[in-house]
Amino acid sequence: MKKHNFSAGPSILPQEVFEKAAQAVLEFNNSGLSLLEISHRSKDFVAVMEEARALVLELMGLTGKGYQALFLSGGASLEFVRVPYNFMTKSGKAAYLDTGTWAAAALKEAREFGDTIIVGSSKADNYTYIPKDYTIPADADYFHCTSNNTIFGTQMHSFPETEVPMICDMSSDIFSRKVDFSKFGLIYAGAQKNMGPAGTTLVVVKEELLGKTGRHIPSILDYKQHIDKESMYNTPSVFAVYTSWLTLQWLKNNGGIEAMEKKNDAKAALLYAEIDRNPLFVGTAKTEDRSKMNVTFLLKDEAHTEQFDKMWKAAGISGLAGHRSVGGYRASIYNAMPIESVQVLVDVMKNLAP
Ligand code: PLP
Repeated sequence: MKKHNFSAGPSILPQEVFEKAAQAVLEFNNSGLSLLEISHRSKDFVAVMEEARALVLELMGLTGKGYQALFLSGGASLEFVRVPYNFMTKSGKAAYLDTGTWAAAALKEAREFGDTIIVGSSKADNYTYIPKDYTIPADADYFHCTSNNTIFGTQMHSFPETEVPMICDMSSDIFSRKVDFSKFGLIYAGAQKNMGPAGTTLVVVKEELLGKTGRHIPSILDYKQHIDKESMYNTPSVFAVYTSWLTLQWLKNNGGIEAMEKKNDAKAALLYAEIDRNPLFVGTAKTEDRSKMNVTFLLKDEAHTEQFDKMWKAAGISGLAGHRSVGGYRASIYNAMPIESVQVLVDVMKNLAP
């Protein structure tokens, strides 16, 4: 029986996506060949890439607005490097909001390129909240933020107004809620949480912002090269792109981002209500900054740990252990997680005797 997978990633995908992807591995488009053995330059795969790129922009409301969608390799971690390479001028500086481990990892890479300014940080409080009162210098080359902090269970519920290009790591909440994506100069997201399998990273970039740094950029790191080569500069991760495309179609056929947001709100509300009601549990993130994707919580009394762990495992739940930097539990409730699975977890929490 399939488990209720609360893993932070790689994570659950819709069942129909697993089935269609599995079928394509056996035989792709009645070609007599597996998806894994076709040329990425074959007509059928080029069509997949084109449609996936177009669908991303359509779902984000960015069609015809000067943006390009790319499916690149190297994980979100490589974008930590590509971003300063493509956006930081030689004598310039970049502004970063330090909201967690991944935000700090992005900042660390940018430091290699020039001046970085931390406009706000919640590090001293183990990243339990999102800093709000900060100023982005008007002369920064860009402002970088992380929309959802996968490890600490916090999420930016609003974004600052700024004239500076805003760049956002949306790895763990892409396509989960309505956002005015046109406010951003560049958005990136590793596929393996809300979009597909590990192996590809979605990058959505406003093309007019590129080519202004005066730097020589190695081709593989140059967004312009990837745009010119229609996201086929080098061999793309064919399986990850195809499966992401299947998930994007599933999303569109199920009401798009707006419908997804409603379901995600309901799931998060159900789980947080139990955390707040049940005297045995406590949430780790500041209430107003709680993530609707990664719900982090602790047992107030660790003496219940053994019993609780036995109970959720017996209920067919997997991937609930918290990250070592927070401890306790983390329930990741991405788009494909049905509310019925969240109810299973809530029932286990209810049944834990005080
Ligand atoms: N950014 C965020 C918000 C993440 O959650 C993660 C991984 O969990 C990363 C970046 C790193 O992604 P990758 O492993 O694709 O490099």
